[in-house]
Amino acid sequence: MMRIADVLGARPTLSFEFFPPADAVARKQLDETLDELSGLAPSFVSVTCGVGGDGHDRTRSIVADISRNRPFPAMAHLTCVGHSRSAIATLLDDYAAAGVANILALAGDPPDGSAISGDFRYAYELVEAVRNHPAGFSVGVAAHPEVHPRSADRRSDRRHLAAKLAQADFAITQFFFDPADYARLCDELADLGCHRPVIPGVMPVIWPKSIRRFADMNNSTVPEGLFARFEALPPLERIAAAAEAAAELSQALLEAGAPGIHLYTLNRSEASIQIAESLRH
Ligand code: FAD
Repeated sequence: MMRIADVLGARPTLSFEFFPPADAVARKQLDETLDELSGLAPSFVSVTCGVGGDGHDRTRSIVADISRNRPFPAMAHLTCVGHSRSAIATLLDDYAAAGVANILALAGDPPDGSAISGDFRYAYELVEAVRNHPAGFSVGVAAHPEVHPRSADRRSDRRHLAAKLAQADFAITQFFFDPADYARLCDELADLGCHRPVIPGVMPVIWPKSIRRFADMNNSTVPEGLFARFEALPPLERIAAAAEAAAELSQALLEAGAPGIHLYTLNRSEASIQIAESLRH
């Protein structure tokens, strides 16, 4: 079982995030993307989980499959709000039995702004549950450079994040476009005595419309000039331009001391390959 905690630190990591495909066609596309990205020897990959219904089941089957059949570690995103302790314990048992060694412990969002229900309210409670599981999972958590939308203020956001990270191995950030946001987050955590690795999440803007929507939900500031330029480009040129901008951001983050780069792939390989190639030169 390959634990992400064990691959952090030796050299900057390069990791890729996917979402669970909705049908057989999308699954085939994901498998092709995984084949293409395998050539880059990723440090690890992760798979998001949807809310409710079969959200966790689909994530579990893909992550188990990658852990069994690919030579790099896979991490399952696991959300806790709306779930009982026993349901989460069963999921963790299933992950351990499937040879999955890495969990990204998340609160998740209640559907359509409804009240938070279930046995968990915050991600740190899930971190405790994952830590207490006998499998010895490596545990990551989410960080929000521009402050989580539910946070009362910046100070409490950082205090809760530092407390959560103290129990975890590393964090991965929400996407952002200004490297100063990442530097400020790291400085604020250091001021609180927190020095755990925080891996910046980088989003190549291959689908500006959808990414604008995600940014609205996450409190991520959209650089209007850059987005307007991408929106005006035809698809192939847009992918190349998005990859170039994401590579520049990644380079700046690595030069500022980031422990690695986590790329939001949207299940496509083209931009990620271009970014990885420019980072090598
Ligand atoms: P928390 O750490 O619980 O924070 C949520 C809010 O509660 C923050 O405002 C925090 O400051 C506050 N808080 C924390 N602890 C306390 C406390 N003790 N007292 C008072 N307030 C507190 N969502 C999905 O549904 N599926 C995914 O696969 C997924 N993957 C993600 C991957 C990454 C890298 C990131 C950055 C986010 C991801 N999300 C995903 C989104 C995430 O679930 C949402 O942002 C969610 O609203 C918050 O999750 P969290 O784990 O940061 O929560």
